[in-house]
Amino acid sequence: LPLIRAQSSADYFPDSKFYKVEAIVRPWRVQKVSSALLKMGIRGVTVSDVRGFGSQGGSTERQGGSEFSEDDFVGKVKMEIVVSKDQVEAVIDKIIDEARTGEIGDGKIFLVPVSDVIRVRTGERGEKAERMTGGLSDMFSNA
Ligand code: ATP
Ligand code: GLN
Repeated sequence: LPLIRAQSSADYFPDSKFYKVEAIVRPWRVQKVSSALLKMGIRGVTVSDVRGFGSQGGSTERQGGSEFSEDDFVGKVKMEIVVSKDQVEAVIDKIIDEARTGEIGDGKIFLVPVSDVIRVRTGERGEKAERMTGGLSDMFSNA
């Protein structure tokens, strides 16, 4: 399967320091996506099991012979990754690389501006709260 890039986008609107990359992907690709994200220094990820329909409709997802759909919705996983603006495109392209099969039902990515980040443990806000020790920005500044 040849690799593809997300088409280049105009500057995001509304402008924000942080964005949430919300990706709906095939459940059996989540491990592949999350380990690749971790490898690139993305250490904060939230996942939820969700169900929905898109152009794949309510057809069943089959992998290794098992069916994942109990009704008219297809089981998917929502991955939510909050990153600084300069990291958005790298995260999107990594998700595409790891989640894409080229078949209908590969999923969709939504980009949502995030007003602020607050770390509960410390009360830190903004960039201080969004950055994670050993994260992507650390990997670059220590390189
Ligand atoms: P601390 O240093 O206090 O541990 P932390 O930034 O590492 O703070 P956690 O408290 O470990 O954050 O994170 C709790 C949960 O928040 C994680 O399990 C994950 O679900 C979610 N999370 C944290 N950071 C992000 C992020 N940048 N994007 C999406 N989800 C995140
Ligand atoms: N932007 C953070 C950093 O570089 C990482 C954010 C995340 O892991 N979701 O430290």
